[in-house]
Amino acid sequence: MYYESLEEQFQKNPNLIEYPKSIIQKLDDYIRSEYNHGYIYLNPYKFAYEYDLDDIDGVKIFLALTDQEKLFTVIPFVDCPCCVGKSLKIPKPLDDDYLYCDECRRNHTFKSLENSIYFYFKLNQRVTIPEKRRNILDRSFDPHSTSDIMERLNGNLKGTSPSSLASEVKRTQRYSGEWGRPRIQDITQYNRDSKNNPISEEVNDLELLLMQDFSNDTRSAL
Ligand SMILES: [Zn+2]
Repeated sequence: MYYESLEEQFQKNPNLIEYPKSIIQKLDDYIRSEYNHGYIYLNPYKFAYEYDLDDIDGVKIFLALTDQEKLFTVIPFVDCPCCVGKSLKIPKPLDDDYLYCDECRRNHTFKSLENSIYFYFKLNQRVTIPEKRRNILDRSFDPHSTSDIMERLNGNLKGTSPSSLASEVKRTQRYSGEWGRPRIQDITQYNRDSKNNPISEEVNDLELLLMQDFSNDTRSAL
């Protein structure tokens, strides 16, 4: 169901329909490569960096594929303020006012962490990557598919829409060391379609939940 689900999303999801089909191949390559290296948490900035896409497109593609019935789920993390390079996974929902780090053995209040939350994406549990990879681009051209038409007209990534995919547009790419993680502030900003509705309801719900937890924590600290 992995390829079927991907293809269906790129054909029907209004937030994905304008992307060329070659994106599915790139996404498949990226996911396989990360899993083969033992990385289960996926970073849309890294995907954008490795496949020469704009960061915003990378994030929006991931968001459009994130929900219970889709490919990805989202996992929130924060950095421990005391331990360099130590990430703490935030439980959903938050049960305590503190997050415990087993390296420095301290409890950290959420208030002290709220500016360093970031989201990684992970394949939903029921999704399995088939052993045999499929060459998406070898499949026959569908004259009724907008994405196929665009791909034929424009070739690879020279599509006219979304505009940020056009080669003349300067790309923003954040994937480099420390700053390459998708911060909650960026994800919140990009999780909007053209009508200002959330692209991923799951991500929207999680943002609201975390913000609520943080404001509760602020109140109790006063
Ligand atoms: Zn620590």
